[in-house]
Amino acid sequence: MQKLLVATGNSHKTDEIRAILGEDYVVSDLKAHPDLPEVEETGITFLENATLKAVEISKQVDGLILSDDSGLEVDALGGEPGVYSSRYAGEAGNDAANNKKLLHELQGEDSRTARFRCVMVLAQDGEVLASFDGAVEGRMLSELHGEGGFGYDPLFVPDGYEQTFSQLSEGIKNQLSHRAVAMEKVVAWLAASSR
Ligand code: IMP
Repeated sequence: MQKLLVATGNSHKTDEIRAILGEDYVVSDLKAHPDLPEVEETGITFLENATLKAVEISKQVDGLILSDDSGLEVDALGGEPGVYSSRYAGEAGNDAANNKKLLHELQGEDSRTARFRCVMVLAQDGEVLASFDGAVEGRMLSELHGEGGFGYDPLFVPDGYEQTFSQLSEGIKNQLSHRAVAMEKVVAWLAASSR
C-alpha cells in the first residue's frame, strides 16, 4: 500500500484527499508529526507556497510528501483573497471571520463569479518531483448556506449546481472540486511513475 504524508495541519484537506484517493493509499498529515516546526507561507503564488511546504517537510520526513496550497479567487475583488484565503481576515484559518469579511467586500456587487484553485506538489528528500493544479468555477452567494465542508464552502456554488459546497454531499464535492481535479493528476503521475 502506498504511503503519503500530506504537508498540512488542516484535517479538512487531509480528509478530502484521503476520500479521493480511496483504499490503496495510507494518508497521514502533520497532526502525526507535532514536533515539526510550522512552514511559513512566504510565497506570493500557490505554487511557491505549495513548494515551500512540500520541500521543507520532505527534508525532515522520509517518503512521499504531498502539499496542497489552495484558495478562492473572486473576480469582482481582482482575484482576492487568493493566496491569502486562509488569512483574509487576519488570523489563519478563521473561516467565520473570513466569510464575514468576504460578504462585506461583496456587498452591493452584482458580479459574483469566482473559482477555487489548488496547487499540489509532490516532494521527496528535499526535491520537487512534480506539481499539479486544479480549479473549479462557480459563484458567490450573499449569505451562508449549509454546514458541511470548510472555509468558503458555505458561500460557493459550483457551476452546474444550485447548492453550495457546504450543502452538496462530500461525494459530489470530492468529484468536482479544485482538489479533486489536482488529485486526479497526482494519481495519474504516481501510477505512471510506479512510486
Ligand atoms: P492554505 O492552507 O494556505 O492552502 O489556505 C487554504 C485556504 O483556502 C483555506 O483556509 C480556505 O479559506 C480556502 N480553501 C481552500 N480550499 C477550500 C475548499 O475546498 N473549500 C473552502 N475553502 C477552501
